[in-house]
Amino acid sequence: MANGKIYSFTKGVISNDVLDFSQRTPFVREVMLEKINPSRIILPMKMNYGVPCEPVVKKGDTVKVGQCVGMPAPHTFASPVHSGISGTVTDVAPVTLPNGISCMAVFIENDMKRTTIESIRPRTHMNMSAAETVAIIRAAGICGMGGEGIPTAAKISRAKRHNVSELLVNCLQSEPFATCDLTVICDHTDYVVRGACAVAATSGARKVRFLISHKRKAEQKMLQASIDSIKNEFDNIDLEICLFRDRYPQGYYRLVAKALYGKNLAEGAILEEECGAVMFNCSTLYAVWRALADNMPLTDRIVSVCTDSYCKHNVLVPIGTPLSEIVNSGSGSVPVTDRIIWGNCLTGLAVQDPENTPVIKITSAVTVAPSNFIPKTPCIHCGLCSETCPMSLSPNIVYEMLVQGLSQKAAEEGGRDCIACGTCSYICPAGIDLAAMIAPFASAGRIIEENSLLHNTSFSTGSVKEVAEDMVGEISLLEEFTEDDEDKKEVDPSAITLPFKGGKTI
Ligand code: SF4
Ligand code: SF4
Repeated sequence: MANGKIYSFTKGVISNDVLDFSQRTPFVREVMLEKINPSRIILPMKMNYGVPCEPVVKKGDTVKVGQCVGMPAPHTFASPVHSGISGTVTDVAPVTLPNGISCMAVFIENDMKRTTIESIRPRTHMNMSAAETVAIIRAAGICGMGGEGIPTAAKISRAKRHNVSELLVNCLQSEPFATCDLTVICDHTDYVVRGACAVAATSGARKVRFLISHKRKAEQKMLQASIDSIKNEFDNIDLEICLFRDRYPQGYYRLVAKALYGKNLAEGAILEEECGAVMFNCSTLYAVWRALADNMPLTDRIVSVCTDSYCKHNVLVPIGTPLSEIVNSGSGSVPVTDRIIWGNCLTGLAVQDPENTPVIKITSAVTVAPSNFIPKTPCIHCGLCSETCPMSLSPNIVYEMLVQGLSQKAAEEGGRDCIACGTCSYICPAGIDLAAMIAPFASAGRIIEENSLLHNTSFSTGSVKEVAEDMVGEISLLEEFTEDDEDKKEVDPSAITLPFKGGKTI
């Protein structure tokens, strides 16, 4: 049960009637989640944190649902890519995504038969060790589905190395209009809870906390019912619900650290080290249990179609579905003057070519927004951007410094701390797109760091372990999972046990 306390960070934006943040009411309550079977999919070889995979199919090949079409090259930090449809490979060619990432992609034409590869069937027993669990999660290509897309197997390894005691399940969907995570909680509650328990046990965490808005009463009830029915299967794990105030951008890990543990994490500091906790998105944990129980890799996801002008809804789509097939799935038609945005309305990127822009593993929303003319004026010094910035920056000052080319001064003002939430741009009455200037400046530092981790020559020639050992001062995401002695204990091969120490026969 929730302990009655409502956690929150300060600032940010509180939901109101204008942007109906994560409210389910304006959505038509879906009796059944709509599934889209697109005419074709485009699968980029890089959809998440890491380097691109290598295509393992060629033009003319036939593929089935669940078949792997992209594999990591030896000793590279990449996630496999699987097809969510059956059909024929029509091309293997370069693509550039709206976020600027260029890589090879596999284009598949749908035969509309949904033929599934033979290996995908419910697992008959689950007496697997922690290392096997991680190997399945890695092979399934699962990555964080709510943010940067850190490969889940790597995050588990990092959590284990930091001896985390808590696993946080991020059910705090606070982006305007988006409800895809809430839909996963409602439709697949048991999978989310079991996935959380399995990952907690594999990471070494003994407590699982489900973080959810205090307004999401229906989802809280469903989670509690699932916890009550499943908790006896996981004797060693304590499960609880933590309520948070409905505030954007509540789910960002540094703001969760502030709200839950009272800690201000510096840029680059990690939750595992500073708070002894690791956080996963609820949709990611659903995907984990699908991989463990059903042997199903990450091939599809729920996407919120966000708009205030016509049919808002959630859809289940194969990863790689072009945005054009999603926005045309509603009952209305998209006005030609509207912009189609890859992501939510505050942080998403407008796309020019929706026919050739796919949903990737981390795409939680597609937004259709009218191309309103926003009158722009010089800054009127109202201070609203500073009042709402969740990282306590003065966005107007950082913006002005960047406009003048004073990068060093902008960094001294904390500009590198920007989390690209878009709140300042949304709130500014002068129509100044502050985030468009500040967020790339902040992410430039992170991209340099990522490149040095992932693209250095020693990584491509040496082993993962050697590179990890070379890294000074932090636990790398590149480290491999290692079993401790207890993980290696023999288990009865005829038993069906959940993949954690002390797991019960089911
Ligand atoms: S400066 Fe960055 S963190 Fe602050 S409100 Fe703007 S986008 Fe968000
Ligand atoms: S919100 Fe806009 S107008 Fe107000 S201080 Fe910030 S930049 Fe200036």
